[in-house]
Amino acid sequence: MPRLLLSIAALVGASFAPVASAADKPNIVLIYADDIGYGDLSCYGATKVETPNCDKLAAAGLKFTDGHSVASVCTPSRYSLMTGEYAFRKKGTGIASGVQGLLIDPDRAALPGVLQKAGYRTGVVGKWHLGLGTTPTDYNAALKPGPREVGFDYAWILPATGDRVPCVWVENDRVVNLDPKDPIKLDYAVKRGDKESFVNDVPRIGGQTGGTAALWKDDEMSLVIAEKSCAFIEKEKDKPFFLFMATHNIHVPRVPNAKFKGKSDCGVRGDAIVEFDWTVGQVLDKLDTLGLAENTLVVLTSDNGGVLDDNGPDKVNGIGDPDGTNGHKPNGALRGTKGTVFEGGTRVPFVVRWPAKVKPGTSDALMSQMDLLASFAALTGQRVPKGQAPDSENHLEALLGTKQTGREFLVEQSNGGAPFGFRHGTWKLTPGGPKAKEAGPGLFDLATDLGEAKNLAAAHPDRVAAMRAKLAEVTGPPVPKKDTK
Ligand code: CA
Repeated sequence: MPRLLLSIAALVGASFAPVASAADKPNIVLIYADDIGYGDLSCYGATKVETPNCDKLAAAGLKFTDGHSVASVCTPSRYSLMTGEYAFRKKGTGIASGVQGLLIDPDRAALPGVLQKAGYRTGVVGKWHLGLGTTPTDYNAALKPGPREVGFDYAWILPATGDRVPCVWVENDRVVNLDPKDPIKLDYAVKRGDKESFVNDVPRIGGQTGGTAALWKDDEMSLVIAEKSCAFIEKEKDKPFFLFMATHNIHVPRVPNAKFKGKSDCGVRGDAIVEFDWTVGQVLDKLDTLGLAENTLVVLTSDNGGVLDDNGPDKVNGIGDPDGTNGHKPNGALRGTKGTVFEGGTRVPFVVRWPAKVKPGTSDALMSQMDLLASFAALTGQRVPKGQAPDSENHLEALLGTKQTGREFLVEQSNGGAPFGFRHGTWKLTPGGPKAKEAGPGLFDLATDLGEAKNLAAAHPDRVAAMRAKLAEVTGPPVPKKDTK
């Protein structure tokens, strides 16, 4: 049994390893949804859409009620997940364009690199959105540095998002099916809706010419991600593996495959959730078929909160009320959406299943995706070099349900930097200002006011001052503004 031998060798070599036995070293599958909000899954209260596979996972695992993405939009959230560092510390980590160079310094410890060092085979399948190569990215050449330079042995990715160019798959460091006689040319001066922005009849951000044979099919994206994820698991089944499956669902453009159309009661956005759930089911079935489920740690979460978009097809095909949601609430009872510093921006579904170790249940611990790096390092006996992953805290016990408390403090970032939301236990501080109904700071007690409706700032000036001081201590000097397109 090569896996057993490998695991024993790893234990002997790592004297500080807290792992008790080879059988404790689980496979890790991190399922990372895009834009799925706190109220989008039936195991988190949705009633207009059914997500039986996610529900099955939650019923057999630990369901967190206060789990967070690190930011409320894609790129900074993913940057922090991978590096264990708040994105506001790194200039240029706002929402990335498709010609952004790699944002992660290959010399630093990153989540896949930590697990690679622990003897894992590591793979990423799906949405990347962390930059490739050097700015401006040349998709006709080798795309280095990229996922493989930060610790992934294998990569099958869409470079940015589905709503921006280029609209091609990348395998390891090359565009799939690229004809050298038809090179890819990208133009980010093109605005969404301009004639040049249409690819596969869908308006994108930026324009693409060339690369015709390499274009993805929007309605097959989830099928491809499921297939490549299952193929990775099959290939690596005899070793410990780490799969980061980052779905495109349910980001716009929402173009679910025909077999999912009309399968929810809340429009196309809901159908995309059903498609996401199917993708989850494919991976869980593969683990079952191979007999791997018992010792595989599955984390299911999302890169930011939910949002209704004005550029998706819901406007055309929606049913029920005018916004096409039929009363469905993407973020449940939470205030705010993707892109905000309210709870609806970062509090997301967060489920951990590991039948061999984790007892099914619910946890109210304050959790952040940024802490997976330090927690998985502890789980696999790895030491993160000093000064790297500076904001990642080891909350392995909370993650596995043996402790009911997680973080004490958490900064909630929107896009490129300040202003921030800030948590201290169940207390929440918001900046207020022109875009909020509060002119000044907002202070909310989430234990009794989950929807951040009753501002207690005037009643608790000392707490506001203390939280502001702590926030300033955590964030340090003034933060950079976003400088990406
Ligand atoms: Ca997102």
